[in-house]
Amino acid sequence: MTDQQVPTSADVGSMYDNSTDLLSEVMGGNIHLGYWRDENDDSSVEAATDALTDMVADRLALRSGLRVLDIGCGSGKPATYIAIERDVHVTGVTISAHQAAVANRRPQVGDGNRQVTFRQADAMELPYPDEHFDRAYAIESFLHMSDRGKAIAEAARVLRPGGVLVTANPYQQGELDARGTEIVAANRKLFQIPPIGDADEYVEHMVKAGLEIVELVDIGENVRRSHTLAAALIRENNGSFDGSFNEELAEAADIIERFGDLPQIGYGLIAARKP
Ligand code: SAH
Repeated sequence: MTDQQVPTSADVGSMYDNSTDLLSEVMGGNIHLGYWRDENDDSSVEAATDALTDMVADRLALRSGLRVLDIGCGSGKPATYIAIERDVHVTGVTISAHQAAVANRRPQVGDGNRQVTFRQADAMELPYPDEHFDRAYAIESFLHMSDRGKAIAEAARVLRPGGVLVTANPYQQGELDARGTEIVAANRKLFQIPPIGDADEYVEHMVKAGLEIVELVDIGENVRRSHTLAAALIRENNGSFDGSFNEELAEAADIIERFGDLPQIGYGLIAARKP
């Protein structure tokens, strides 16, 4: 992938079809970074990744019974966690057929309350009517999308007036040197990511979609540890796979670790409201 190349939705879907089981294993069942308060915070990866889910949920102003959309739901852990902890209904969409199947095997799916449901769909063309949801969130998913403006406009469209959208994404802040450029390119190729984008890009898309920014907070330093821990776990896991795959995984671990160390990579939580 060259600097300007963008993956298709199908590229992203097949990358996650292939990597979801491994990523879930090294990221505490979630497929997103963890949040640690400071260097003395010794939370496990699972607790830290759930803590990040909580940071998103806290900004959604949830109350019992609301209808919530999870855009890019992964294997369904954040949706299930939020549905149970906050007593809301969560619908998750993912571009990966494998993720939709894994998510749909969760015991909470299809229980009496219909608290959580999952389906395969493209977030750039959401299969829901206007104003269908009270809240929406997207954890590390807009990052992958070839037309982030369209995806954010779709999120705004399906939100009812007064609804809230919360997003969480790594983004670029400041210029990269040659080494940094190379590391970012390798990471983009590994995870099927268009040019990374900065905080302004997300904000501009939201404003253009008619949303009002409520909060923008950078937690780049709080999530950094995640990359090192994930890389270490991938290296440990390595032994259980055969030959060529091993080498690929070792290389992936290096890329993940180096990417996480780049000071120009921040992590933004943005909350926006539909007037
Ligand atoms: N939010 C989940 C998963 C994050 S991984 C978690 O925090 O655990 C990125 C997710 O974005 C994957 O589920 C992937 O399928 C989804 N995604 C990326 N592009 C998408 C698209 N165009 N439409 C729907 N989902 C997409």
